[in-house]
Amino acid sequence: MSRYEGLIDPTVVDYVLTNSVHETEILARLRKETADHPKSNFQIPPEQGQLMRVLVRIAQARNVIEVGVFTGYSSLNIAMALPDDGKILACDVSDEYTQVARRYWQEAGIASKIDLRIAPAAETLDKVLAEGGAGKYDFVFIDADKTGYPVYYEQCLKLLRTGGVMALDNMLSRGRVMNPESHDADVQALATLNRFIYEDSRVDAFLLPLGDGLTLAVKK
Ligand code: CA
Repeated sequence: MSRYEGLIDPTVVDYVLTNSVHETEILARLRKETADHPKSNFQIPPEQGQLMRVLVRIAQARNVIEVGVFTGYSSLNIAMALPDDGKILACDVSDEYTQVARRYWQEAGIASKIDLRIAPAAETLDKVLAEGGAGKYDFVFIDADKTGYPVYYEQCLKLLRTGGVMALDNMLSRGRVMNPESHDADVQALATLNRFIYEDSRVDAFLLPLGDGLTLAVKK
């Protein structure tokens, strides 16, 4: 598993994956279909999908927000862990990518749990806030345009209930956040947000070196 190269011994990674990841046939098929996509790196790896299901259960989540759907691998994982009356407000700007997602949601029988909004996520989240959504969500997953993260973080923090969990993906940006010289806008946004969350007294948070770095923040 090259995504942990230099971080964790490959035999340990293999052992952990073999003994903790349960990927259903439909999830595996969606992951394989997306692997041929030119933007396949947008997709979370299977161990992160597994962790997502565990987090949804820990948070006893019923109402979820996903910022960045792509071809639907993470939302499918989340929906599978939700109770029958659970709902995901899913935000994405691409009708094309989410067509794949919709096909798999239908096939998995969880499409009724997902409310897909095709629009810039910040607009959708503002609308939900204006409609009285603050404090009504149990779990949030942010995996979208990196320069948008600071805005999504603030909006989602308002939308989460106390004790609700936010997960933010790619917070290590393949190690690039450790380079203070980087002029890349995405890297700068993530590095700044890592420090901001570390100093944010509104949350208890941890940057987990899983996949490309997953920050977990619990709203106080
Ligand atoms: Ca990602």
